[in-house]
Amino acid sequence: MVSRVIPVDDFDLVIFGGTGDLARRKILPGLFRRFQAGQMPESARIIGAARSDLDSTGYRKDVANALKEFLPETARPKGDVKAFLKQIEYIAIDATGDGGWKELSSLLRDDIVRAFYFSVAPSLFGALAERLHGYQCSGPACRIVVEKPFGRDLESARALNKTLRDHFDESQIYRIDHYLGKETVQYLMAVRFGNVLFEPLWNAQYIDHVQITVAESVGVNGRGAYYDRSGAMRDMVQNHLMQLLCLIAMEPPSRFDPDAVRDEKLKVIRALESPEPSDIVRGQYVSASEGESYLDQVEDPSSRTESFIALKLRVSNWRWAGVPFYLRTGKRLKARHSEIAVVFKDAPHSIFGQALGRHRNVLAIRLQPNEGMDLLVTIKEPGPGGMRLVDVPLDMTFADALGPEGDDVPDAYERLIMDVIRGDQTLFMRGDEVEAAWAWTDPLIKGWKDRGDKPATYDVGSTGPEDAAVMLHSEGRRWRDIAS
Ligand code: NAD
Repeated sequence: MVSRVIPVDDFDLVIFGGTGDLARRKILPGLFRRFQAGQMPESARIIGAARSDLDSTGYRKDVANALKEFLPETARPKGDVKAFLKQIEYIAIDATGDGGWKELSSLLRDDIVRAFYFSVAPSLFGALAERLHGYQCSGPACRIVVEKPFGRDLESARALNKTLRDHFDESQIYRIDHYLGKETVQYLMAVRFGNVLFEPLWNAQYIDHVQITVAESVGVNGRGAYYDRSGAMRDMVQNHLMQLLCLIAMEPPSRFDPDAVRDEKLKVIRALESPEPSDIVRGQYVSASEGESYLDQVEDPSSRTESFIALKLRVSNWRWAGVPFYLRTGKRLKARHSEIAVVFKDAPHSIFGQALGRHRNVLAIRLQPNEGMDLLVTIKEPGPGGMRLVDVPLDMTFADALGPEGDDVPDAYERLIMDVIRGDQTLFMRGDEVEAAWAWTDPLIKGWKDRGDKPATYDVGSTGPEDAAVMLHSEGRRWRDIAS
């Protein structure tokens, strides 16, 4: 198969926080892979900008070390690394002062795409936006990329939107949610809207329920102070799980263009009902080993912040009337496993009788690890012995379907950064979407705080609190396995 990498126009990409963890682990390795794919014009430049007192030579060494740390040796031939580093510069800058800004302004070229990646603490976003404007670094061909978290409630998200919009047009603001950059997420949209097979079944008449799981095996180690102020609801549900739910539940947009897609997602968020307290299960992980429980890893030993949450949600519109959307996410679970499962209803009448068991079609969209999609279909178990039914996956994994290229799925960050350069906002959140998501989230958090709800406990390495399982069992359903 011939690789179809679409070249992008010349650009200057400034990474504020270019020496930080995210830049070293995701952004720079991602850019390197795009460079290797031939997507970076020779004249394009990546300019690291951070507090560290480095020059460009020192920064290039740092970038080379980051590539070494986060890419396997076979993925970084020396010649490629050398050529990539030639396109890298560095400026020591202070986001809250004046140091480095004149130098940055004179380094930037005119009449090409300018992108500024805010890979710094959110408290610096406003200062960066102001200085970019004040030092005339911005302009019509300029874009800013804003990392998560985008606010911690509606009020702070509104304030941040206002600060950014004081200096930039909404069309220049790229709020990143790396879940939207995953190949499978776009695959899902192609499957839904590019085929006649699925859309006629995509409604309450044929779908029994939807499950969205984002399970992590790691805990909060090292990030305890930050995480404890946030919790699973703010850290994962308000953004990532909500975005995934929108893609499943949205109406077909009229075109695959940024505003058409985001208009439809916004309608889903606005149609989300507020769940009853009984439809929310929160949990904290516990372990018999010292130092391994959630409360050992955060500052407040009586913290009620959740490291796990499961929710039963309803989208109140005609298409989804009566269809529950079960969401769950948590830390220190059995495995790292994220998937969306669309579980279809039973066939209206089983000609084979109940004795052959219950068989259901499931469309399972795996986000990590091993991105791909399975459609479970019921067939006859081969061989003699009468009619026996078995559910087998129609495997739509990229590696199998697309040959070696399918194996080389770009990381979400690679794709999203290239979308920024291209000026395509489809996979980025719009300001009103983020605000609507917080407007839905805030009362739920306030509710459990006002009630003084304590999270349940769950064992490290389990699938979460027992109550989460009961939530589905009581309705004759069960969570899909968190597979390792
Ligand atoms: P980090 O602490 O590792 O790096 C911070 C960077 O900001 C450093 O390069 C530092 O030099 C720079 N910096 C700090 N103060 C500065 C100032 N006054 N002026 C200029 N530069 C300054 O942080 P990180 O983990 O890389 O996170 C960066 C952003 O990305 C944060 O908003 C974070 O929430 C978000 N994020 C990070 C991850 C991750 O995996 N690390 C994941 C999702 C989102």
